[in-house]
Amino acid sequence: MCGIVGYVGPRDATEFLVMGLHRLEYRGYDSAGVATLSPAGHFSVVKTAGRIAELEHLLAENPAPGRIGIGHTRWATHGKPSDENAHPHMGGNEELAVVHNGVIENFHAIKQRLVAEGYVFHSATDSEVIAHLIDSCLKRQQGIAEPSSTNHQPLVSAVQAALAQLQGTYGLAVLFRRWPDVLICARLGSPLILGVGNGEHFIASDASPLAGFTDKIIYLADHELAVVTANSVRVIHRDQGFVNHSIQLLDVHEGDVGKGGFEHFMLKEIFEQPEAIQNVLRGRLDRDAATAKLGGFNLTPQQLRNANRIIMTGCGTSWHAGLVGEYQIEALARLPVEVEYASELRYRNPPLDNHTLVFAITQSGETADTLAALREMKRKGCPTLGICNVVGSTIAQETDGGFYLRAGPEIGVASTKAFTSQCTLLAMLALYFGRLRHLSFTAGMKIIEELQQLSDKVREALECSNHVREIANKYAGCDNFLYLGRQFNFPTALEGALKLKEISYIHAEGYPAAEMKHGPIALVDEHTPSVFLVPHGPTYDKVLSNLQEIKARGGPVIAVVGNGDTEAARLADEVIEVPAVEEYLQPIVTVIPLQLLAYHIAVARGCDVDKPRNLAKSVTVE
Ligand code: GLU
Repeated sequence: MCGIVGYVGPRDATEFLVMGLHRLEYRGYDSAGVATLSPAGHFSVVKTAGRIAELEHLLAENPAPGRIGIGHTRWATHGKPSDENAHPHMGGNEELAVVHNGVIENFHAIKQRLVAEGYVFHSATDSEVIAHLIDSCLKRQQGIAEPSSTNHQPLVSAVQAALAQLQGTYGLAVLFRRWPDVLICARLGSPLILGVGNGEHFIASDASPLAGFTDKIIYLADHELAVVTANSVRVIHRDQGFVNHSIQLLDVHEGDVGKGGFEHFMLKEIFEQPEAIQNVLRGRLDRDAATAKLGGFNLTPQQLRNANRIIMTGCGTSWHAGLVGEYQIEALARLPVEVEYASELRYRNPPLDNHTLVFAITQSGETADTLAALREMKRKGCPTLGICNVVGSTIAQETDGGFYLRAGPEIGVASTKAFTSQCTLLAMLALYFGRLRHLSFTAGMKIIEELQQLSDKVREALECSNHVREIANKYAGCDNFLYLGRQFNFPTALEGALKLKEISYIHAEGYPAAEMKHGPIALVDEHTPSVFLVPHGPTYDKVLSNLQEIKARGGPVIAVVGNGDTEAARLADEVIEVPAVEEYLQPIVTVIPLQLLAYHIAVARGCDVDKPRNLAKSVTVE
């Protein structure tokens, strides 16, 4: 959550900052600001409640000149979205400026102390304490009376002293009035990436702003601080002192962070799913051994064979993917799976041993709850594995092993292609574990063939988009929806309901279709549509009975059915056909019309699809 950018070099800093904030806007978008510094040490600070476009208008009237600067797009945790609470925050008597991502849990106690020292606060944020605290630490440093732009040690000492007092999480960047050539940034629990250019450096909280500017990047790790000038980067770890930072290659391209002709990122990402599925499968199917070739386990064959239980953890859509994985792995590998909300798992104390594998599922690899649950499971001795999309992310680094989705940047706040990629990867895991156990070569080959056809099936499912738009226009005025499915399609029902809630603000509930009789059916009336998932499978007849129970009570029914299903079509008010696939792959196909339904309803209601109310991508706070 929240985007941070920074620049030092020969360009006008605001050009990069504003462009970078636009690309990061999906991470938070309730207020934004920039601070730049002139060579003579004059700060220009422009900030406002609202979107980056509003910041841009302000900057057109009040330019912020300078070749060094920092910027922020906020997702408020402490204090409402307002001009005062927007970042950057100034420390001391305009001595320094700070942008911060995360939460400072002990900000209140620090604030009281700083107020007693004479500091005046201008915002209700937790972040402002960081600015004044660094200033207070800086004042205690020796030699402060004679600042020399080449000696950055007082700054490093001051920032380190301040950070040592903070409890919580931070990704931050600081500019100092009397050191106008240097930017200091640091992280603990919130991502920060440095981009290395030719005589210039960039800072960003994820890789998207850097695409097109540089392909050389440095990932900052927790407890690291970087001293960045136009021509140098020094990385200092809290305990280890100076560390050699390795420069890695950025694999995000400019085209990946644009809308590519689509009206919204979400629609683009929905239509990218056939390709995303090919990417996640690429090189991972082994026809010789009729299994999945998953090189990222980093576990011995013995450890893998001895695994007798799997825990999957994640939040939101990733948790739904975990549920799909539970059905898949139990069906194909006969291995017990539990799926836990990360926010619950981290405070539970389940009995564990080193034969329990823990999978952390996350698009961003930065989800704070998932990271905390993962650390807790690691502490208890379980081998941990990540399933995530963002290369080099914290969870990717902290797990013992894992698998990248290779879905490309997902910018729409409502996750789509990450979900189907996660489900595809989980199907491969089910195949892998199945082949370690009882699955025959022939059964393994059949699964490989089904996986190889999946991308085409998803492409075919996408053909329903225009039809779904017509249905969406018809029902966009409803205030409540039910989503009902059974077995493999129960998680799909949850995911469909979540998509609708997220982007159209319509109340929607997902249920196992048969559970509907035990309560939710009381909600049914002629204004409450039920979206049924009824592809062919063992529970088809049962779900059809549930569908009739809804019809009998006057509820409109939108049914997602297998191609050519005339029986369900006869009963339902609206029918959306999807191609037939094996049961364990159905969620990946049946979710497509649900994503489109949510999308088209949100558009029909005039909602901001890519930046829905109150949400942000990559939830890096607890
Ligand atoms: N806690 C800070 C605030 O509320 C930072 C939030 C963010 O990460 O955007 O301003």
